[in-house]
Amino acid sequence: MSTNIENLAAKEYEDLLVRNGLKRTGARIQVLNILSNRNSATSQPYLENLVGKDIDRVTLYRILKAFEEKGIIHKVLDNQGTANYAICSGACSEHHHEDGHVHFNCSKCLRVYCLDEVKVPTLKMPKGFEIEQINLIVEGICIDCKSSN
Ligand SMILES: [Zn+2]
Ligand SMILES: [Zn+2]
Ligand SMILES: [Zn+2]
Repeated sequence: MSTNIENLAAKEYEDLLVRNGLKRTGARIQVLNILSNRNSATSQPYLENLVGKDIDRVTLYRILKAFEEKGIIHKVLDNQGTANYAICSGACSEHHHEDGHVHFNCSKCLRVYCLDEVKVPTLKMPKGFEIEQINLIVEGICIDCKSSN
């Protein structure tokens, strides 16, 4: 039964790749699968660890870069400066991200969460300054760490 669900998901990932003009490779599907099935963003070292021998670092780097360019995933730097990756909401497209949500960095488990329901507030810039992107990271204790106390 679980096999059916996995197959269905794999089909969706394949469609997503095709829609974005990317070839369906096992490595790309594997990365999509990992990033989609976590409730928080995935840090690059953790991802490297997970894919281990299956995908070499250069390939992984290229996959992440391509996904980011296509608006499939977005990158968040946590307070340690480590890159974390999360699946985008449907609003993103090639060279145009619309991930206007706040990120939450847990100071205990160090996970980065996409808080889709918390929107980045609009900021009024001084005259002559044009905003391209706002990264807002909130630090604190996440729900998992809070409840395990
Ligand atoms: Zn995005
Ligand atoms: Zn936590
Ligand atoms: Zn996010």
